[in-house]
Amino acid sequence: RIDGYLFAHVDDTHELEKELAAAQRAGLTDVKLISNPPQQPQLGAALHFPRQGQFQPLAYVAGLAKAIQAKGGLLYDDTHVDQIVDDANQPYVTTTHGSTIKARYIVVATNSPIHSAEFALKQGQYMTYAIGLRIPPEAYSPALYWDTAHNYHYVRAASSEHGKDDILIVGGEDHKVGHDSNTQTHFNNLLEWTEQHFPFVQDVVYQWSGEVIEPMDALAYIGLSPRQQSVYMITADSGHGMTHGTIGGMLITDLILERPNPWAELYDPARRNLHPQSLFSMMEEGLTGNLQFIDYLKPGSVKSPSDLANGEAAIIQDGLKKIAVYKDDEGEVHQCSAICTHWKGVVRWNEAEKTWDCPVHGSRFTPCGKLIQGPANKDLEPVD
Ligand SMILES: Cc1cc2nc3c(=O)[nH]c(=O)nc-3n(C[C@H](O)[C@H](O)[C@H](O)COP(=O)(O)OP(=O)(O)OC[C@H]3O[C@@H](n4cnc5c(N)ncnc54)[C@H](O)[C@@H]3O)c2cc1C
Repeated sequence: RIDGYLFAHVDDTHELEKELAAAQRAGLTDVKLISNPPQQPQLGAALHFPRQGQFQPLAYVAGLAKAIQAKGGLLYDDTHVDQIVDDANQPYVTTTHGSTIKARYIVVATNSPIHSAEFALKQGQYMTYAIGLRIPPEAYSPALYWDTAHNYHYVRAASSEHGKDDILIVGGEDHKVGHDSNTQTHFNNLLEWTEQHFPFVQDVVYQWSGEVIEPMDALAYIGLSPRQQSVYMITADSGHGMTHGTIGGMLITDLILERPNPWAELYDPARRNLHPQSLFSMMEEGLTGNLQFIDYLKPGSVKSPSDLANGEAAIIQDGLKKIAVYKDDEGEVHQCSAICTHWKGVVRWNEAEKTWDCPVHGSRFTPCGKLIQGPANKDLEPVD
């Protein structure tokens, strides 16, 4: 258990006062407004949230896997589900290996749901960035910090892989998947922000990015999948997957066992939220996603693979077809269709992660077109 501090972005203490009032309405009466966090006074006014949780997510997941197996559960990796069938007599899933798995209940926890088109309209997929910087021992006592910026920044401490160095993890810079191909800039922005707020940091030793899924009203969708009888789902955890995943495990167990659970209605995936802010964010998500189909009208960015240097990628126009072409570091050319297998958006190159990202709903693929992240559930099509 460690302390958490929400500090003001550009001296905006009004925002902190609003957050304090909201925290108190939610029953968090031990949250206090303080003039500055005692260990990092340079951050200025902050809300102090005592007794927050920080844990190592890989150790947590490994512990869960062990607990499942100890209770007789079976885990299969490298097993890709291609179809989920809510048959009234016998629900089942099929896999790309050609197997059929029958079950009384199915839980779809694939982060972006692969079984239901409607969720592509009720949530948005965002890239989020993190860097790990070496820090001098004693410069930072364990605590969580995050700010009130619209795209908020967060800070945690960790140890390097072999426990050799103290590392400060700093994250943020979220944007819609595929809407910014100059992805390295976001790591640079994080570094600049960190040097301003935590001037003791040394060199960057890690950087990575991945997706978070934002629902239209800030709460995950957890429960029975709409209009289905035996298929449950967990999605849209809004960057709080550790919390929402745990709630999901408890809530779906209760729903399947028909035990009452006070959270069922709150997280119900079929809920209708008619709050103007939620309706606006749903419309905004739909509009900004669909506008990206404009890429069909754009010409290819190079004429042929020979125009690419090693490590570069581009979309090439071949008659009416759009081809995603990547030349690897050894000069070998990899080509596949540039059309996303979800709703047929044209994928864009993500320079920092070396992936093809779909700007319409956020599916992602390797440079050779292999699926990494849904809602697509198939690789990009091969080309001759
Ligand atoms: C940089 C970054 C920092 C973050 N920081 C935090 C944090 O501090 N706290 C926090 O709570 N959360 C954080 N998150 C969010 C958190 O990581 C996610 O919310 C969480 O990992 C989602 O868990 P999940 O099990 O739903 O999805 P995933 O971890 O994506 O797991 C989904 C699984 O489903 C599998 N799958 C997908 N499709 C199929 C298919 N067709 N067949 C079979 N299997 C399939 C995938 O291979 C994958 O293993 C962060 C995320 C990022 C990117």
